[in-house]
Formats: sequence, structure tokens, C-alpha cells
Amino acid sequence: MKDATQFYIDGEWVRPREGTPFTVLNPSNEEAFATITLGGQADTNAAVAAAKAALPAWKSTTKAERADVMRRVLAAYMDRIEEMAEVISQEMGAPIALARAAQAAVGAGHFKASIKALENYEFETHHGGNGSSFRVYMEPIGVCALITPWNWPMNQVTLKVAPALAAGCTMVLKPSEVAPMSSYLFAEIMDAADLPKGVFNMVNGDGAGVGTQLSLHPDVDMVSFTGSTRAGKLITKNAADSIKRVTLELGGKGANIVFADADEKAVERGVRHCFNNSGQSCNAPTRMLVERSRYDEAVDTAIKVAETTKVAAANVEGPTIGPVVSEVQWDKIQGLIQKGIDEGGRLVAGGTGRPDGLNRGYFARPTVFADVNQDMTIWKEEIFGPVLAMTPFDSEEEALEMANDTAYGLTNYVQTQDMEKALRAARELRSGMVEINGKSHGPGMPFGGQRQSGNGREGGEWGLEDFLEVKLVTGAS
Ligand code: NAD
Repeated sequence: MKDATQFYIDGEWVRPREGTPFTVLNPSNEEAFATITLGGQADTNAAVAAAKAALPAWKSTTKAERADVMRRVLAAYMDRIEEMAEVISQEMGAPIALARAAQAAVGAGHFKASIKALENYEFETHHGGNGSSFRVYMEPIGVCALITPWNWPMNQVTLKVAPALAAGCTMVLKPSEVAPMSSYLFAEIMDAADLPKGVFNMVNGDGAGVGTQLSLHPDVDMVSFTGSTRAGKLITKNAADSIKRVTLELGGKGANIVFADADEKAVERGVRHCFNNSGQSCNAPTRMLVERSRYDEAVDTAIKVAETTKVAAANVEGPTIGPVVSEVQWDKIQGLIQKGIDEGGRLVAGGTGRPDGLNRGYFARPTVFADVNQDMTIWKEEIFGPVLAMTPFDSEEEALEMANDTAYGLTNYVQTQDMEKALRAARELRSGMVEINGKSHGPGMPFGGQRQSGNGREGGEWGLEDFLEVKLVTGAS
């Protein structure tokens, strides 16, 4: 049992001032493997005070000095990247191959992209010709609370820590209590990178405790949050009294529009993408809309993919999907699959319960519903499990109307050989991102949503600007 009960505050590992022990479970076998502490107000205050004290010196550093520090973090991260993959796989159930190739690897990619964005960014620009002089300074917003979820833990941590460092902000990271071990390791990496004391702090806790305390704290200037729409609303309300900036990366219910002229692999690719990470991705294409002439064929393909998707413990090598993260999540997915059946969705693959042969661990069955309509709960709600909802359409207009029929707006997907049609759809779709023919987003590009999927943009210069304030100076000669 690993003891991970300390916090990282002001450049040191410290014992909690208050708080309660919390057991971390491995979702592949339901066994406890680590203990953390859920911190209390005194711990939150200590971390915020350290970040506040470190701010004047850190915000005065040059671009080159910050880029050097970030390169040291990247080097320390690369030294422990295999360990990072193993920890992520153990804490949240990503298959080890996915944990290595994506979950841990993206952390390095985000640091590299943020270093590049920093080097290219002009923090001071001059405007106005004919003798008038306007200067615009882009300044660090200040002390930032970074609150992250469990599903792509290092992706989300590095998408916040790297631009916050680049901007000249100081920070308190509060990772998900469900998957805190990757962030514990990340704090060790930050320690090894020898940052100035107090620039980066890490406190474990839950949403009702440290999460809420950070959102309310008068000395926190910004909350950068990734997680559920439910928590995003609460954080926004809690942050309102102090008018702090709140950037939100929330849930999704991505539509994947497969036109009749889509390439051969489009349906298989879409189903696999939906099941990737056991369906626990905010940008998962969970609603597949197929032009009627190819609908039956698409349903058959989806059944084949679901039935041949191997579900296994996260440490099993090979192309598999692992468990979902927790009992709470497993129960929620079961309830929604049952609701899909009760509301008249045509269950064509999977269903409730565990896959054959897996009696321990939070394993869910890769599930496909056909003929789902827009009134059904499984059309509307983010399930966050390996569950695909399929429906046919007859015209481009109908497909776009159905795709936009959601409170979310994170990523939508279009499959067609007709690039004009694809780009027309991309303009009409109400989402922060549109992916055409399986070409995915990459590090350095803006990641984020619209409406109930949030309001922030992470990655590259857009991610950096989330952590900056604009100051106009006039009259300088
Ligand atoms: P969650 O909202 O339950 O928890 C996320 C984090 O917020 C955790 O650290 C948690 O402790 C904290 N938290 C919870 N309630 C809080 C409160 N009232 N005040 C402050 N902090 C609070 O989400 P989760 O279950 O960990 O993650 C899954 C959700 O995250 C899904 O909805 C998913 O779509 C979303 N997500 C979005 C993106 C994106 O970029 N848009 C990326 C990944 C995940």
C-alpha cells in the first residue's frame, strides 16, 4: 500500500494540517493500492499563500527563464514517463498500451507545445500609427487553481500547468481524488525540476472540500477546471462573489455524421473511437448518425466491432479496453444502458452486466444501441462508458439538426469524401471542434467546447492566453 498522504506546498512535501485519509482503488481488481489525504481549509490556505508569495518573483521572470524551467520539467517528466504510464493505468484503468502511447505521452507533447507557444508569443505589442502610442501588455492573471478529472489525468494536468507556468502564473493543483497518483508523481517531477518555491503546489482533496475552498478563495485569481458540467456550474457560482476568472472544459455528447460517401473504414473507426478509454473521453463520438442507404451495413459493422472488442485488466498488453474507473461510474453506466432498453432503443450488442469471465473489477460490456431517437436519455446524456447510440438520417439538413440537438458542444465528427460538404457541415456544427475523416486534434491546437461543454481553450497560444490579462497603456512615447 503506497503512502501518498503528503501535499506539495512551497517547494516541500508536507504533512497535512487537517483532512482525512482516503483509499485509492485499482479499478481492474477493486483492490486498495494507495492512501491519500483529502485536505481541509488549512491545507488549501497554506497552498494558496505559498502561490501568492511566489507570484511577484515568478511573474517578473523573462520568457527565456520560464522556457528553461519548462524544459527542466519536460526532461524530468521524460525520465519517469514509463512509471507515469503504469501509475495512470493502475489508478484509472487505461490499458497499459494506451497509457504509454497516449495517456502519459500527451503530457510531454503538451509541455513541448507550450514551450513553443511561449517562445513565439509577444507579451507586449505596440499599436496605432500617426504618432499615437498604444501598448498592450499581456500579463499573468495571478494565482491559479487547477482542478482536474480522472479520465485523462496527465493530459488535463499538463494542459493547465504548462501554460500557467509559461504565462508567469503560480498555481495550486487539485487533481481528482479518484485518480490522484499520477499527480502525486507529477509533483515529484516538479520537485526534481527545481522550480522556485511556491510556483507549483499540489493539494489532494474532494470537490466539496478543497475544490470548493479554492473556488471561493479570495486570493485565487482564476480557476481552470476540467470535469463534469455539474461541477463546472457549482465552481462558477462559488467563484462569482470574488469575480475570479473561471475557464471550463466540461462534458460532451459528440455526433459522428457518416454520409453515404464516407470511406470504407469510417464506421469501424468511429465505433472504436467511441469505445477508446472505455468510453471515458469528453470528446468521444457517442452518437453515430448514418445516411440511410448505409445504415444497416453500419449497424452490422458496429455489432462486429463491439463483439470483437476485448475487455481486460489494464495491465494486459495488446489492443483491449480496460475497466471503467469506479463503482460509481459502473453503476451509472448500467443504469443508463437499462434506461436505453426501457425507453425502446434497439440493443444490438452488449448490454448490462460484466463481460463473460470478468467477475471482479469495474468492467462494462461494449454496447451498441440502434434506432435511438432524440427523446431518449441515451441520446441526450453523457454516459462516459463504452456505449454507442446509432440513428439513420435522410438529408444533410436533418443530420445537422440532430447533431446540434444537444446541450453540449465539444467535438463533432464528419465522414465524407466530399470536402465541400464536410466544410459546410463544419461551419454549421455548434461545437468547439470538428474532426473530418478521422483526422484528430494535436498538441498546440485549441481544445475546448461551446455551451455546456465549457468556455475555455487549452493548447498552444490559445491555452496560454487563458492565463493572461490584457492591459492597455496609452500615452507612452
Ligand atoms: P467531476 O466534475 O466529478 O470532478 C472533476 C474534478 O472536480 C475533481 O477534481 C473533483 O474533485 C472536482 N470537483 C467536483 N465537484 C467540485 C466542486 N463542487 N467544486 C470544485 N471542484 C469540484 O468529473 P469527473 O467525474 O472527475 O470527470 C469526468 C467529467 O469530466 C466528464 O463529464 C467529462 O466529460 C469531463 N471532461 C471534460 C474534458 C474537456 O476538456 N472538455 C476533458 C476530460 C473530462
